Amino acid sequence: MTKIRKIQLNENDMPTQWYNIQADMPNPLLPLLHPGTKQPIQPADLEPLFAQALIEQEVSKERYIDIPEEVLDIYKLYRPTPMHRAYNLEKILGTPAKIYYKNESVSPPGSHKPNTAIPQAYYNYKQGVKKMTTETGAGQWGSALSFATNFFGIECKVFMVKVSYQQKPYRKSMMNLWNGSVIPSPSMETNAGRGFLAEDPDCPGSLGIAISEAIEVAATHDDTKYSLGSVLNHVLLHQTIIGLEALKQLEMAGDYPDLVIGPFGGGSNFGGLSFPFLRHNFTEGKKTRCIAVESTSCPKLTKGKFEYDFGDTAGMTPLIPMYTLGHTFIPPSIHAGGLRYHGAGAIVSQLLKDGLIEASAVAQTESFEAAVTFARAEGMIPAPETSHAIAQVIREANMAKQEGVSKNILFNFSGHGLLDMGAYDEYFTNHLLVK
Ligand SMILES: *Cc1c(COP(=O)(O)O)cnc(C)c1O
Repeated sequence: MTKIRKIQLNENDMPTQWYNIQADMPNPLLPLLHPGTKQPIQPADLEPLFAQALIEQEVSKERYIDIPEEVLDIYKLYRPTPMHRAYNLEKILGTPAKIYYKNESVSPPGSHKPNTAIPQAYYNYKQGVKKMTTETGAGQWGSALSFATNFFGIECKVFMVKVSYQQKPYRKSMMNLWNGSVIPSPSMETNAGRGFLAEDPDCPGSLGIAISEAIEVAATHDDTKYSLGSVLNHVLLHQTIIGLEALKQLEMAGDYPDLVIGPFGGGSNFGGLSFPFLRHNFTEGKKTRCIAVESTSCPKLTKGKFEYDFGDTAGMTPLIPMYTLGHTFIPPSIHAGGLRYHGAGAIVSQLLKDGLIEASAVAQTESFEAAVTFARAEGMIPAPETSHAIAQVIREANMAKQEGVSKNILFNFSGHGLLDMGAYDEYFTNHLLVK
């Protein structure tokens, strides 16, 4: 039998709508609350920060939302992305499980993040917005937004978590190349940043702090809007292009997943891959298990509480109903910068609370072991975030072996680690600060 390693969709078969899981969730989301009044916020309250079209998508209950032509056109620079069957990994593990992965690392910035950066830049451009601010952890989101805003002539200012700014200098170069400007956070540019530095001049920063800085700049400048790379409903909506393509590709392979696995920072790549499959759970009686994999250093899903909390550290965002470690939690400096966020998106939190998805946590050392096993088997070098999902895949594949049952595992290869080789060096020389 000839092996098919890559399952490729034609450009013409790329989905032309995103899937909105809010149309099918058994329990609807609790409302966002105004931080001052503690009353549900109105969409208009978000207008100083976000483009109108994105606010509409945030609260929409429409099942399918058209992807604008201009967005599809830029998607086609790297989409549809390939799906791979990990034959070599299956063989090394000696597992009866079939392992598939969706390869989002082929985008120019190297991760799934441009899937939402492009529509966010587009809707802001349509509204006449001239500047956008954002935060970035490891630099994946900042590079994706710089890449996207550059196409639409929007200026992009990125507050980058200081520890990552120091660990990953080439991410900064990448943002600069696409005309983004980069500021290590906490910075002296904002009230929020100056406050954190006064408390701790050596503060390594966190996503929550960087968000506070980026929001402050947008809220205090009329021509500037803010953009978030994860957590929010419209971000997860845009990412469903991943799962919608994956459904078609598995259909081409004649398979359907028993397990869908993604690394978890705020929920965007996990939601993007899993929601179209969850729809079949809700509406067609399928029983796919969807597992979000977080870091043991930032375990909001497995150890956090479901409650209203702020999305940022300074407490400027609306209160979000979510699993959280508390908005002042500053996670240890693991290399998977994209997983260093104290909370989880509202949709994913509600699904977890309702027992419709599962969560697990992986320690940094296990994630690097898994990454090395994967890279030696399949060739591709995973981003540190992605490696967390791979560790869970290996756990599940080993369990299938012990139980002697085959299962179909699909995971999201959310990004490559080519700019993370310093982190791999630390692992190889036994210098990882966080085990
Ligand atoms: C940002 C990032 C993540 C985590 O963010 P989510 O919004 O939870 O997807 C995972 N993998 C990579 C490669 C990332 O860049």
